Amino acid sequence: MSLERIRRFLAGQHPPSPFLVIDPAVVTERVREFARELPHSLLFYAVKANPEPAVLRAVLAAGGGFDVAGPAEITACLAEGVAPDRLSYGNPIKKPADIAFAFDRGVREFVTDAASDLAHLAEHAPGASVTVRVLVDAPASATPFGRKFGCSPAEAAGLLRRAAELGLDPAGVAFHVGSQQADPAAWDAGIAAAAKIFAEFPFRRLNLGGGFGVTYRAPVPSLARYSAAIRASLAAHFPAGAPETALEPGRAIVAGAGLIRAEIVLVAQRGEHRWVYLDIGRYNGLAETENEAIPYRVDAGPGERGPVVIAGPTCDGDDVLYQHTPYELPLSLKAGDPVEILDAGAYTASYSSVSFNGIGPLRTYCLD
Ligand SMILES: *Cc1c(COP(=O)(O)O)cnc(C)c1O
Repeated sequence: MSLERIRRFLAGQHPPSPFLVIDPAVVTERVREFARELPHSLLFYAVKANPEPAVLRAVLAAGGGFDVAGPAEITACLAEGVAPDRLSYGNPIKKPADIAFAFDRGVREFVTDAASDLAHLAEHAPGASVTVRVLVDAPASATPFGRKFGCSPAEAAGLLRRAAELGLDPAGVAFHVGSQQADPAAWDAGIAAAAKIFAEFPFRRLNLGGGFGVTYRAPVPSLARYSAAIRASLAAHFPAGAPETALEPGRAIVAGAGLIRAEIVLVAQRGEHRWVYLDIGRYNGLAETENEAIPYRVDAGPGERGPVVIAGPTCDGDDVLYQHTPYELPLSLKAGDPVEILDAGAYTASYSSVSFNGIGPLRTYCLD
């Protein structure tokens, strides 16, 4: 069990707090679990969730590919020996120079959602495969994408047709149901929209995106339940057989591989509230506590507990982690006590600022 492996690794070591510890064996196991539950899907790990080289190597060793968002992530993958044909440039927002950079390094799979980006692809990535991302209504996720990405399903066939006219390979359709999506039925609307597009313009690959949830404080369905819902939707909307599918999980691959060790800086009674200040906050690793979107499990040891407001260490009024979500921590907590934040391998280190209030980014240590 990973928590034990991480605790054993930490025994006798005292790196400066706070820090993240990653167990790459968990990453490998999660990629294999996706391969078992959705055996006919290609897997492209979303590198932004955690670009740590050991994580990339674990995904590679387990047979996965990579969803990359720009030149730096491409370079990071190539540096670990990933072949460029295992990279998918999934970010619809890219500079022409970034497209040229990717193409020059051998990347041939791109996601697009706009005619202007398609023109850039035709110019800087001639002949490359393009997948058109559509915006679909999904039930709210914990961290939704809003309306930032995706053309309307009605526009998608037109973009695929245009891609072919421009000499590109119109490979497929993609959608993303929003990250930390707790509802396995969320994929149905996207699969239904894809089937309509397919009737107009047959394509060969359907990219189902990421979004698979992680059990933080509230349980989410098992991967088996997500996959059963997705398979049922594919069968319902593509009765004559679905195109090949691809997945881009990020959070579900790496969250469970990571544990953050932090420390109490201060405990203060303010009116009726007990405020607990940690040495980690919004800017040095816990960015996803914005709007209290991700309620991490916080373990501060045994003992009688009472309600707390949990805040970060910086001089910023927004650096409060939880004041609406009810949390209880031991009444005996005092400055210097250790705190563990569990399932913290995704969207933590990669999200931390470089020097806000002089606090550096979250350091990562990886088990062998
Ligand atoms: C961030 C992202 C993902 C990963 O989403 P998760 O919710 O972490 O699984 C997948 N695809 C794209 C295009 C993304 O931007």
